[in-house]
Amino acid sequence: MVLAEARSQAHRNGDGGRGVGPRSRRARSPEDRLGIEPHVAALLEAVGEDPAREGLARTPRRVSEALHWLTRGYEMDYRKIIGGALFNEAHESMIVVRDIELYSLCEHHMLPFFGRAHIAYVPDGRIVGLSKLPRLVEVFARRLQVQERLTDQIADVLTEVLQPRGVGVVIEASHLCMMMRGVEKQNSRTVTSALRGVFRSCAMTRDEFLRLVHGRP
Ligand SMILES: [Zn+2]
Repeated sequence: MVLAEARSQAHRNGDGGRGVGPRSRRARSPEDRLGIEPHVAALLEAVGEDPAREGLARTPRRVSEALHWLTRGYEMDYRKIIGGALFNEAHESMIVVRDIELYSLCEHHMLPFFGRAHIAYVPDGRIVGLSKLPRLVEVFARRLQVQERLTDQIADVLTEVLQPRGVGVVIEASHLCMMMRGVEKQNSRTVTSALRGVFRSCAMTRDEFLRLVHGRP
């Protein structure tokens, strides 16, 4: 199992990839919200199908709707989601939310990857409502992603918003682009981590986090 510290790739995305990304402006009708239906029909034809046959007639519409939903993170602003749920609190111990379900699309193949995120932080006077952490994962997972960047973005946003003593994020995920294409990779999971502050500098804190994450009862 690889447990590498993910490098920050956020700067490659201009605004850090954290703001509200631009949506396509090519939408032609309220139904075809991404404006991709003709392209999906062309895709069906290209793979050897007849886009007019009964089972496929509504597929471009369905694909457009599904993709719109699966990439709705571009329309979400983490500041709005977290901003109203910050509280001053003297609590100084580690806060861990484990096993947050996660579904995303890899940007290389536009195929799903899915798994779990584990998020921890040691506050420094400010905490966030626990229910906001899964929503924060959603903001960044519902985009085209690479797992390493997703891990970093969650850690960076929590660092920015909470200014805590430290943040740790671990994501374990299975990638369909690996599983469906390889014969020996079907059970492989990719594990990424992003450690900030005391999670990086203090071995005890890091060990406690990793034990809580991996030490399943
Ligand atoms: Zn892929």
